[in-house]
Amino acid sequence: MSKIALFPGSFDPITVGHVDIVIRSLDLFDKIIVGVGHNSQKNYMFPLQDRIDWIKACFEEYPQVEVKTYSGLTVDYCKEVHARFILRGLRTSVDFEFEKSIGQMNRYLESGIETIFLLSAPQYSPISSTIVRDIIKHGGNAEPFVGSGVKLK
Ligand code: ADP
Repeated sequence: MSKIALFPGSFDPITVGHVDIVIRSLDLFDKIIVGVGHNSQKNYMFPLQDRIDWIKACFEEYPQVEVKTYSGLTVDYCKEVHARFILRGLRTSVDFEFEKSIGQMNRYLESGIETIFLLSAPQYSPISSTIVRDIIKHGGNAEPFVGSGVKLK
């Protein structure tokens, strides 16, 4: 059975930290689906299509990486795409506490799906989409922090 992992998130926009997690996990899985969560209640800075196009551009040389959009429960989407693993990155103890609850709840919902955590590379641990959006809003240079496929202008 092939090992498929879903890497879920908003990717508003994708950062170098996200890209690093995906590339480092290529050896662990046969296929990684970057799942762009779409929640109509949430206000995103960038349109869904831009977020998808930028992620695709970041991974164009990696055929094992697919980009998809989904809404609803992450575990339901995992079942739809036959992903037995959820991939998440951990930057801080705050991430850990948050991810622990989500991971344990997902396991209650679907015991056959395991969440796999990779520690952020130290140089990327302060980088978040939230801070990147703040930099952009205030006219700063966010280029060093976003994935190579992101076109901010
Ligand atoms: P969400 O919308 O769920 O907050 P994000 O797009 O912020 O999702 O992040 C998706 C995943 O990427 C999460 O597991 C998050 O911890 C991880 N992540 C975000 N930024 C980094 C980073 N700089 N280094 C490593 N992992 C990261």
